[in-house]
Parts: sequence; structure tokens; C-alpha cells
Amino acid sequence: MITLPKYVSLTAGHAEGPDSLTAFDNALMDAGIADLNLIKVSSIVPQGARLVPLREFPVGSLVPTVYAQAYSNVPGQTIAAAVALGLSPDGRGVIMESHGVGTREEIEAQVRMRVEAAFSARDIPLHEYYVISAEHTVEQHGCAVAAAVLWGDELEELPEQWETEAWTPDVRFSVRVRESIFSMRSPYQHIDIVDTFQFGRMLWLEGTVQTSEADQWAYHEMLVHVPMLIHPAPRRVLIVGGGDGGALRTVLHYPVDQVVMVEIDRDVVRAAREYLASICGNAFDEPRTQLVYEDAYTYLEQAHEPFDVILMDTTDPVGPAMRLFTSDFYALVTRHLSSVGVVSAQSGSPWLQPDVITRNWQAMRPHFSHLHLYLTHVPTYPGGLWSFMLGARGVDPTAVSPAQLEERFRALGIETQYYTPAIHQAAFVLPPFVQRLIAQEAP
Ligand code: SAM
Repeated sequence: MITLPKYVSLTAGHAEGPDSLTAFDNALMDAGIADLNLIKVSSIVPQGARLVPLREFPVGSLVPTVYAQAYSNVPGQTIAAAVALGLSPDGRGVIMESHGVGTREEIEAQVRMRVEAAFSARDIPLHEYYVISAEHTVEQHGCAVAAAVLWGDELEELPEQWETEAWTPDVRFSVRVRESIFSMRSPYQHIDIVDTFQFGRMLWLEGTVQTSEADQWAYHEMLVHVPMLIHPAPRRVLIVGGGDGGALRTVLHYPVDQVVMVEIDRDVVRAAREYLASICGNAFDEPRTQLVYEDAYTYLEQAHEPFDVILMDTTDPVGPAMRLFTSDFYALVTRHLSSVGVVSAQSGSPWLQPDVITRNWQAMRPHFSHLHLYLTHVPTYPGGLWSFMLGARGVDPTAVSPAQLEERFRALGIETQYYTPAIHQAAFVLPPFVQRLIAQEAP
């Protein structure tokens, strides 16, 4: 009976001549693993299993091992060996091996199929997958080996991983990370997607939270439904930014003819398409979607067609988004707004970014006959309470009756998590400290 340990190391190597592998084999025998078949086919790894990459075989200190070895004495032949570990969401695991004549890619594909089959046979979802392999082109007598070494409890516990955003120089927001999913530096910004215990997958740009699976709807529903239901018949919509696809997906619930999304960074869209499907769905591939990868300021300087609704779903006013929070930009925006048109713009935290609100209000004020501020609550954004500015022409947002909102919303036939016509109206009721932020005169 083998008691399985908490930790798993994956390791692989290849050699010409049998000696290195014989040593490996002997070490296994010395460790008392006489009946390799007992553990060769599959093993269940207990909860909290951890992978420890090893650079070389720890001969002499081996404990139960799942391994694959390929031998050949046919000069010129390519052989490979692979072991793979699949883990379920609750940490149970299956280890499989594959070996033989073929390339590393071919043998890895075989072992992957075995892991998938083992999970589906047990009706357990496959959550994470790790594989290691070695390939060797034989000169005289070659071998390739890959092994999963199961360790005891002697290794230290995994240090916790946390992701932190500095909300102000004096306030930080931290979330415990289950797994880093994606990380890259695009030409514009650092992009990270992490899976967190509290909020599910989260998109971070330049160390700043953009969206999370757990609360994205409290933002996207309010950014989109409020202007879309104020407008009597929105047909053409522009989204500025919006790389995670959440706003786009929400707009596509409407019978619109076209949604143009102008996003400066195609890598954000690529990452969202791959890893944030729960937020973007297949919105990027909808026929009514037109994706434009360009700076929104430059796009609007050159574009001609008017839009009924324009949604500002941008990063905060730093880096490439800085120019989008200016009066010049709103002059451009209004040039592209239909005679009946509504704009909504995310505009920051009343608690922790009061100047962003005041500055954005002053930038929009000269360009709209109707301008209002409304609120939502997004726990992963600084301070939780979040603001939007709503500018309109040709329609008075406050004159749309509750009955009209109700009728338009019902006609969509969708379920929401945050938005209702009653919340819509309540969102425009501002506490005095927020009213004061937008009552200030421009300097
Ligand atoms: N909901 C988010 C928030 O409140 O922080 C915004 C999400 S969305 C990911 C923001 C997008 O705006 C980013 O993908 C960024 O690349 C894009 N962006 C920033 N500056 C831009 C610009 N000048 N033109 C077009 N897109 C821009």
C-alpha cells in the first residue's frame, strides 16, 4: 500500500548509453519500488498538491515515482518520453506516462489524451495540466526518460501569492491569487490575468484592476444599460477602450446595427478572448461587432459616421488614456454624436479619486446640454463606490419615465445582476459629498 505524499516533481532527461538510466532504475529499486506497475498507470494526488520543478534526477533520494522511459538502438531514430499530471479543481490528480518512437510533441499528445481519458472515466473535471518530456535522437544506444517524483511532507508549504494595487499612496488593495493565468508586456502596458480565491479571474493592466468575474456586471450593466435605455432607439454604438469585452457583450443584447469598439491594445483583446470567456463570451466575433485597434483620439479625429451611444470604457487617466479625459476629446466625441445621442463615461471613485471626477466633469460640461453623474458599486475598484458621467443631447435623461424604462428593459428579455429600472433612477441620487465634487467651478 502506498501512501501518497503531498508534493509532485516533474523531471525529464535523455542520454546516449544506458548508464544514467540504469542508475535511475536501480535507485527506484533501492527505494523499494519493486512493482512499478502498481503506480505506473495512475495515482491520485491529495489536495494541495504542489509541483516542484527539478533540474536533475535526485538519485538516492527517490520516493514513489511514475516514470516513462524509451530505449532504442536504431541510429537516427527519435524517441521520447513524457509524464503528465492533471489536477481537478479540488486538487485530486492523475499521473500518466507515455513513451516510444516519435517526437516530443507526438508523445506529449498521447499522454495528454491519457490524462483526459482518466478524468472523463472518473467524471471529474480537468482543471490544470502539467507535462514534462524528453526527446532523443539516437546515435548508438539512446534513452529518454520522464518522471513524476512524489515527495513526502518535508517540503515547506507554498508561500501564498497576493496581487496588490496601490489605490492611493496610503491605501492598498490585495487579493490572494490561486493561479497566475497570463502575463505579458504589450507595447502599451503590462497585462496580467490571475485567478483569485475571492473574485475569480481578474484582468490587471499596469498593476491596476480592470475587471473581475465576480463583480464585472455591477460595472458593465450600469455603464451600458443606463445610456442605452435612455436613448429611444440606439442603432450605432461606439465603445472607447473596453478590451475585456464585457461592455461589448452587454451592448449586443440590444437590437443594434453595429458596435464599433476602438481599443488601442490588441493584446488585451487577445488575452480576454482566450482567458476571460466568462466576461466577453463570443462578443468579439459577432457580425455586428467591428473591432478597431487604434488610439481612440486618433480614430475620432478621422472617423465620420455618427453614433447614437458612445461608451467610455477606458483605463484611468494615465498612460494612453490620459488624452481621453480632456475637454478637447469631448469636443471630438460630440462631433460624432447623433442629434439624439447619449454618452456614458466611467469617471472614478468619489472616495479616493475625487479630482478625477471634478476634472472629468469640467471637461464634459461645455459639450453637453444635459450632464449627470450616477453611481454604482464595484468592490474591486478603489473605494468600491464608482461613478459614471452621462452626457446627452436631443434627449433629457431625467425626462425618460420609469414606465418607459421598464418597457424598454422588459423588451430586451434579459436577466441582470445589478441593473433594474429602479436602480437606474436611484443611481442618480447623489450624497452631498459627491454633489460637491461636481459643483466646483472650473479654475
Ligand atoms: N472597466 C475598466 C475600468 O474601469 O478600469 C476599463 C476596462 S478596459 C480593459 C480599458 C481599456 O482601455 C484597456 O484595454 C486599454 O487598452 C484601453 N485604452 C486605454 N487608452 C486607450 C486609448 N487611448 N484608445 C483606445 N483604448 C484605450
